[in-house]
Amino acid sequence: MNCPFCRYEDSRVIDSRPSDEGSSIRRRRECAQCGSRFSTSETAVLSIIKRSGATEPFSREKVINGVRKACQNRPVDDDDLALLAMRVEEALRSTGQAEIEAQEVGMAILPPLRELDEVAYLRYASVYRNFSSLEDFEGEIALLRALPIEKSEIESESQVASPQLK
Ligand SMILES: [Zn+2]
Repeated sequence: MNCPFCRYEDSRVIDSRPSDEGSSIRRRRECAQCGSRFSTSETAVLSIIKRSGATEPFSREKVINGVRKACQNRPVDDDDLALLAMRVEEALRSTGQAEIEAQEVGMAILPPLRELDEVAYLRYASVYRNFSSLEDFEGEIALLRALPIEKSEIESESQVASPQLK
């Protein structure tokens, strides 16, 4: 980025710090020519390719709206949802891709949602993966049992045994 004062193209980074919970980096720069200091903010672009083929910027809000219904009447609060959306964004950004299929966002939601609440996970997975029969649920529950997550405070047995779908 050119110096906003003298337009010189070379500047030295004198400080950088993550901002907006790590999704962007704020850099303090010093112009190599006139010595003026200015700040830049760098955000890696993360676009979602929708089924229609159109792209839109990734939005944590949309992730939260997508899982909120599955979390109804579950012990999940707004902070949990905000953290989940952050983890989804981190997972997507860690792929290094600038454009991500909407379907992959759904996939990225599943692991952190499972850690958050297994009933909400089952509800979400049933819609997202088009469960059409009891066998689909049974298969998924068997998978949940076979692959326990390492989180001590979850009483997975009792929660998974009776998913109450409304
Ligand atoms: Zn300058």
